[in-house]
Amino acid sequence: MSATEKVKCLIIGSGPAGYTAAIYASRANLQPVLYEGLAPGGQLTTTTEVENFPGYPEGVSGPQMMEDIRKQALRFGADIRSGVAVKADLSRRPFLVTVDSGRVIEAEALIIATGATAKYLGLPSEVKFRGQGVSACATCDGFFYRKQDVVVVGGGDTACEDAAYLSSLCRKVYMVVRRNVLRASQAMQAKVMNTPNIEILWEHQTKEILGNESGVNGVLLVNSKGEERKVDASGFFLAIGHTPNSEVFKPFIEVDEQGYIITRGKGTHTNVEGVFACGDVQDPTYRQGITAAASGCKAAIDVERFFIENSCKVKTA
Ligand code: NAP
Repeated sequence: MSATEKVKCLIIGSGPAGYTAAIYASRANLQPVLYEGLAPGGQLTTTTEVENFPGYPEGVSGPQMMEDIRKQALRFGADIRSGVAVKADLSRRPFLVTVDSGRVIEAEALIIATGATAKYLGLPSEVKFRGQGVSACATCDGFFYRKQDVVVVGGGDTACEDAAYLSSLCRKVYMVVRRNVLRASQAMQAKVMNTPNIEILWEHQTKEILGNESGVNGVLLVNSKGEERKVDASGFFLAIGHTPNSEVFKPFIEVDEQGYIITRGKGTHTNVEGVFACGDVQDPTYRQGITAAASGCKAAIDVERFFIENSCKVKTA
């Protein structure tokens, strides 16, 4: 049975962007309702230790940090619910968003904070060693592999950036590239090719990630001729792209060729007035917890201003 509920500010998504938007929106008396989505807490819940988020001098586990930000939003009265947005009609205002329970929410303003999902190769060993040597975020986890040997998979700008970043921390970085060319910009290609401790393994693919109860200790590769090669490494970094979780909103919201929501200027405004986007769903570049949180703050402030401007329009009409 479906029921329609009127909401002033609806937030979809629950990573640092969504929860931070909820903190600011509740404190601004926007009475936000937040649906947490398929993975409550977002990508950071798959990270073991977060050491670069300001305010945690000793570091904190990803799930714990998300729980802390969630609690902070609850403290100011945010209505946080389980549920996934499955359908939206943004052609009219109030906007209509249907959640998987069948409930239809009528929202005066909408914040999309649905994040992005890192792509994985699909190997069982990736799942087995996730957080124990397998990572999709070099900036988050690279520090744990200081003076060790690591593998980066991919040949795009992210892979090159990750390899360059890791080369300053690690003893050796193997870049596993499936073709005989890099997709990355010329500048990034030059950077990795001129870094002595980065070795590019052209036309190689990952067959298996090897390890034991202590974590990853090697990677089994296969080249285009079918020849296998094992490299010793304690870290395995995926950099083969992300999928922004914008599918539900795409019929109405402008996205780039990869599906990232396009926001206008310095703010979080989308092409639809009253709909705002924050966090990784609109950020192919930085993708950090702290940048996501900051954009969540901006989205809530943009909603607040949207209501002020709209009430002015009504009064002067
Ligand atoms: P990307 O450009 O889509 O590159 C993905 C890379 O992963 C490609 O080399 C691809 O190989 C490889 N790959 C994909 N699936 C694979 C698989 N199953 N096995 C092995 N390799 C696989 O993704 P990205 O590097 O994350 O970049 C995304 C966008 O953000 C790009 O537009 C990029 O320019 C931009 N970006 C910009 C900056 C910057 O300007 N500083 C930094 C990061 C990203 P193929 O080439 O063979 O397809």
